[in-house]
Amino acid sequence: MYCPRCLKSIPDDKVDDISEKLKSTMGNRLLEEGKCPVCGTVLVREYGTVQKMNDIERGNRS
Ligand SMILES: [Zn+2]
Repeated sequence: MYCPRCLKSIPDDKVDDISEKLKSTMGNRLLEEGKCPVCGTVLVREYGTVQKMNDIERGNRS
């Protein structure tokens, strides 16, 4: 899963794991609801999005 706002991605097979940790350590249920635990933006599925966003970021910087 991928957060379009933080530009962070969470591997699908880790989502449950991380979600459980956030819930037990911080009471953070956002990831469990399919939202970014940092900013609350609804996460999207990755279809090469990360690569594209990285390209855009690089382009903006130069
Ligand atoms: Zn985020």
